[in-house]
Amino acid sequence: MDVTPHLATVLAQLGNREDTLTGAVSIPVYRASTYSHPALGESTGYDYTRSKNPTRDVLEDAIARLEGGVRGYAFASGMSAVHAAFSLLAPDDHVIASDDLYGGTYRLFEQWFKPLGMHFTYVDMADPENVRAALTGRTRAVFIESPTNPTMAIADIAGCAAVAKEAGALTFVDNTFLTPYFQRPVELGADVVLHSATKYLGGHNDILAGLAVAADGEAAERLEFAQNAVGGVLGPDDAWLVLRGMKTLALRMERHQENALAVSRFLLEHPRVERVFYPGIDGHPGKGLHDTQASGYGGMLSFEVADERMVAPLLAAVRVITFAESLGSVESLITFPARQTHADIPREVREAHGVTDRLLRLSVGIEAAQDIIADLAGALAQL
Ligand SMILES: *Cc1c(COP(=O)(O)O)cnc(C)c1O
Repeated sequence: MDVTPHLATVLAQLGNREDTLTGAVSIPVYRASTYSHPALGESTGYDYTRSKNPTRDVLEDAIARLEGGVRGYAFASGMSAVHAAFSLLAPDDHVIASDDLYGGTYRLFEQWFKPLGMHFTYVDMADPENVRAALTGRTRAVFIESPTNPTMAIADIAGCAAVAKEAGALTFVDNTFLTPYFQRPVELGADVVLHSATKYLGGHNDILAGLAVAADGEAAERLEFAQNAVGGVLGPDDAWLVLRGMKTLALRMERHQENALAVSRFLLEHPRVERVFYPGIDGHPGKGLHDTQASGYGGMLSFEVADERMVAPLLAAVRVITFAESLGSVESLITFPARQTHADIPREVREAHGVTDRLLRLSVGIEAAQDIIADLAGALAQL
């Protein structure tokens, strides 16, 4: 009987049955930088590790399979993967991007690609007509995050990708927040899917890594060329650590989500909390749209406290949750986007998109929900 295994099964077995030489169930870490040739004009398939490495190969195949693309590419960071996707574009090209982007991506666009001659327009991707209205004769790509960071706005991925395609532009989707476990952008029309594997895929706050998945051969060719030519590849030890993390992705994502729902419900009821941003709660703008394109809500949420003077004492009072940047790991982390992840975005720009001086972002970990809630309750009670 030919059955397509559930993602949880594929994930748990990543790297198994790959090492035909020994049958090792965990793929070995191949640290060799170079490989001997059997004879002149012959290759084992591996020549030099920047071009191809057996450990990295398993990770690249895995993410391609999970995302439903043709080929994956592993990079030294998420930013390096985003940069690689832009090798499908050229100076003078115009890109339409989500108006509430990850701060590092916004910085790369505004302070790196813009001076090189690229053009950017930021729109609310909830309505594909906003993308259509922003098209110019030079639009070559649409760059989407959904949910966005930190206000959890939802983009109409299929709708925006369709508008892009009609205009001859590519669609790039940063799928870091939901992972292929909950959202598969290739099925919605994305040409390239990007990840900061530093977050949920790695999952343990112990590696920096990025992944790019090509939906077709043309995108694959360009990404492969960029990976080898620019050389920002992921090292074999880190590739192994990402694989190790991904084996438990299904379990972790389910628990992150269960905890995030419980924490959201607690925060919604709290008198010192004005707003909660989590796509899994009724009334979240875009929940209906989200439910059509994703199978879960993930573990990220943001909330607004009643007064900005509450922020510093709250960050000082938490004991279970750690005040630290980053997200997507087993331990709960809290950040203050206005001063941390979004510090490079001008105040007027970020406030227009809801990133106020009262907004806190929570990456809900896999601890017992009751402990996370008790920590927040204690910290809020002290204000
Ligand atoms: C962290 C992050 C990135 C950047 O990834 P690094 O691994 O830190 O370079 C890009 N996009 C999103 C949504 C992120 O959260």
